[in-house]
Amino acid sequence: MSATRAGLLSDAIRLLAEAGVGDPARDARLLARWASGLEAAAFAARLDEPPGVDEAARFATGLGKRIARQPMSQIMGSREFWGRRFEVGPDVLDPRPETETLIAAALAGPAPRRVLDLGLGSGCILLTLLAEWPCASGLGVERSAGALAVARRNAEALGVAGRADLQPGDWFDAVRGRFELVVSNPPYIPEQEVEALEPEVRGWEPFAALSGGADGLAAYRAIAAGLEGALAPGGRAILEIGAGQEDDVAAIFAERGFALAAAHRDLDERPRALEFRRASEHPGRF
Ligand code: GLN
Repeated sequence: MSATRAGLLSDAIRLLAEAGVGDPARDARLLARWASGLEAAAFAARLDEPPGVDEAARFATGLGKRIARQPMSQIMGSREFWGRRFEVGPDVLDPRPETETLIAAALAGPAPRRVLDLGLGSGCILLTLLAEWPCASGLGVERSAGALAVARRNAEALGVAGRADLQPGDWFDAVRGRFELVVSNPPYIPEQEVEALEPEVRGWEPFAALSGGADGLAAYRAIAAGLEGALAPGGRAILEIGAGQEDDVAAIFAERGFALAAAHRDLDERPRALEFRRASEHPGRF
């Protein structure tokens, strides 16, 4: 008699635990269900049946990748972000729930006519904002050709490609004109700390999307240097930051004439998205 789904599942949990995976039961179940193509309830009701041949092969392949510590999103090919599905692969940063803090902060303000996203990755920030603001258009820049291709497919899939100008470039290279909203989730991990991150991140996510140079702040310096020319009068710039970077990043922007208008906190209560305005337009916080 061939093994049932339940039997394969318990073998998989043991193998993932041996590989050091953080939540082996959750991942094994998600992989098994993904391989089956069934909805959660149908899958649960059919645990005592053996899987089909294709399903078993898909499960074995996925399991092998997870044992090699490839992230679940890359194995399954997508990740949910702000309620929408984004294609994800080894060329892009896996969209993080923390980044939804930036989305909430942006949506709490007035809808802009044009949004600029520096460092698109999967496009999760810009494309979410365009989907939420049907009258806005946006420019997104990304220096990795692989990531740009993923972002373009995501724009098509979400039906916002007609309003999203996605261009290759390094920070402000491809930027023309001014924007009422500038957003970015730049790489901000100090270079020498990348190696100490968990295997899923250091082994599978693009180094360039993670490393912010020796002190983790290189991208903020580049963005602060070009922001004056790209931000429309009265506009807002919202940037994601790493743990403990609030004061350093605020100082970098203050030097260029931008005042910290708000520090938006994530679910752990850490300042996660800093909102800047021109200091001349926002004297309050100084
Ligand atoms: N904007 C993308 C994201 O937030 C990519 C960010 C990055 O590559 N550092 O996921």
